Amino acid sequence: MAEVFLASRNAKKLAEMQRILSQWLPDVVVLGLDDVAAYDEPVEDQPTFEGNALVKARAGVKASGRPTIADDSGLCVDALNGMPGVLSARWSGTRGDRAEVDARNNALLLDQIADVPDERRGAHFACAVALCLPGGEEHVLHGRMDGRIIREVRGAGGFGYDVLFVADEHAADGRTSAELDPAEKDEISHRGRALRALAPVVAQALS
Ligand code: IMP
Repeated sequence: MAEVFLASRNAKKLAEMQRILSQWLPDVVVLGLDDVAAYDEPVEDQPTFEGNALVKARAGVKASGRPTIADDSGLCVDALNGMPGVLSARWSGTRGDRAEVDARNNALLLDQIADVPDERRGAHFACAVALCLPGGEEHVLHGRMDGRIIREVRGAGGFGYDVLFVADEHAADGRTSAELDPAEKDEISHRGRALRALAPVVAQALS
């Protein structure tokens, strides 16, 4: 069976990516970081999602010798001029485990936009997925999910800022991305959209 390496340290993000890809590429084995020899993971120092996704995928293909997919994603808040953007994962710093950092990021974001009225709390998640092949071929696809930031955390699913985000598709029922079933989130999410666009490119590259 053909194999593709998914270069991500974020266990919840990785699970989402494996779930989405396995639907569209059922015959492809998706390997994670634990399935390949350890290597020095690159610093995500680029100013764009695309740049960081490429940095991660290039390092992955170089180290593993396998076709490699990496995503870079984040939350862009209108009232913060698009921030935290590429800094989403470390908006409040990097101290503590992923759950602690996520909780602190959410508290900080709520604080920063506490005075922003409801009609100006628009935001979107953005995702770039890069596919790098051993022969040097590279592809980048994008996805986004538009919505709003609410005023208190709600929900127990998903990860990161999901507890604060209501997608436009759920404006009527008011459910945050953390209150959606995984399949409901995948259908409208930035990552779902980007990976569905990438799936035929992966299939073609591995054929
Ligand atoms: P990355 O590993 O640099 O791509 O970090 C992405 C960060 O953006 C995550 O740590 C989250 O804080 C945030 N993020 C990206 N996608 C999502 C999502 O689907 N839900 C909630 N937060 C997300």
